[in-house]
Amino acid sequence: MSADCIFCKIAKGEIPSNKVFEDDEFIVFHDIKPIAPVHFLIVPKAHIESLLSTGVTHQDLLGKALLIAPKLALQLGLKGFRTMVNTGREGGQEVFHLHIHVFGGSAVLPRT
Ligand code: AMP
Ligand code: ZN
Repeated sequence: MSADCIFCKIAKGEIPSNKVFEDDEFIVFHDIKPIAPVHFLIVPKAHIESLLSTGVTHQDLLGKALLIAPKLALQLGLKGFRTMVNTGREGGQEVFHLHIHVFGGSAVLPRT
């Protein structure tokens, strides 16, 4: 938990979200500013800043995070999707709590 982190607050239920899925390790919710018809975020509950802060100890968590994407995409009616992990300021990251974007629901998807 990082005191000022918005995704930590969502994970703790202190800030509401449009939740898709939750278990002990992850919370998944719809992006507040979707850029595709379906746009959700897979967020580990543990505060990890970005992929730059991960190592071999996160291997299991990162594997589980990716496996959530197809499971929920299918549940939401998608037949395919795009994933994105912005990493660091140079990588376009705005919220410094690791998350995977999942986009779908349209043939025309953003390239960024
Ligand atoms: P990134 O640039 O990868 O850090 O993206 C952060 C994403 O978090 C953006 O797409 C935001 O729209 C999204 N976001 C920020 N605050 C919230 C929130 N309270 N609930 C849902 N999504 C959020
Ligand atoms: Zn956090």
